[in-house]
Amino acid sequence: MLQLYILEINLRRNGKQMAEEQIIPISKFNKLKKSTSKKVTISVQNITVSYDGKIAVDNVSMNINQNEVTALIGPSGCGKSTFIRCLNRMNDVIENCTIEGKIILDGTNIYNPEVDIVKLRTNIGMVFQKPNPFPKSIYDNIIYAPKLHGLANNKSESDDLVEKSLTEAGLFNEVKDRLNDSGTSLSGGQQQRLCIARAIAVNPSVILMDEPCSALDPVATAVIEELIDTLKKKITIIIVTHNMQQAARVSEKTAFFHLGKLIEFSDTSTIFTNPKEKRTLGYITGRFG
Ligand code: ADP
Ligand code: MG
Repeated sequence: MLQLYILEINLRRNGKQMAEEQIIPISKFNKLKKSTSKKVTISVQNITVSYDGKIAVDNVSMNINQNEVTALIGPSGCGKSTFIRCLNRMNDVIENCTIEGKIILDGTNIYNPEVDIVKLRTNIGMVFQKPNPFPKSIYDNIIYAPKLHGLANNKSESDDLVEKSLTEAGLFNEVKDRLNDSGTSLSGGQQQRLCIARAIAVNPSVILMDEPCSALDPVATAVIEELIDTLKKKITIIIVTHNMQQAARVSEKTAFFHLGKLIEFSDTSTIFTNPKEKRTLGYITGRFG
């Protein structure tokens, strides 16, 4: 019989199978979302990634909708980070890594040799698991890239852009009196919002987030999740998370990966209440992973 109940991830004991009665439906905690977007921002077509010839992402195709949050879930090592790094060509810097397939953004394959990678990574920003502010002031963290790209050409333009970016990242009020302090002096959650502000400052259309909350406490996590909800009005967001509650809270679409393959990709409400694939069900009910 199809198991409709979803494990509340925080209750799961490490790797141990849960008894049926301990499994709590995720819909009890979350209002599960569905995709309503009609516009595709990124079209991933038959992407295969190998490290030294060993396949890590196996022939994955999916469409990422505009102004929505797409969550990538799956057990450790299933290829989530490898996949998300394909979307702004971050894998290019890994020597033993080869990528086949196409990723279409605004009608162009981002793997075309003539694509300007610096521009691409401005348009598709990235936030990592561990907040990584530059060892510079809060102000300079934000303004460094915009200056390089000619987006801020004088002091007043810079001030405005710093304030705007920090405000959009929900950080301005907390740091407005200490903009010259080092970015690394902030708390973990603030540092992560600084990194988001830094990405926003160059006006991206997409932001990739690879487990952005896994180093944060629940309060800082909730702040980032709220921020994601606001940001998606302007920006398309793709987030890797090992926390299924988080995927269920923030995303419209969820993609389940296993052993490098995209097993199931659907509305978040479908994935968490009525998955089509046995392996999806197994993972979301804590049977493995
Ligand atoms: P996830 O983010 O889902 O945990 P990864 O994308 O990090 O998974 O890894 C997918 C597979 O690729 C794993 O088997 C991992 O060991 C391998 N892998 C990841 N990065 C490298 C690398 N730089 N060199 C070789 N193998 C790698
Ligand atoms: Mg990873």
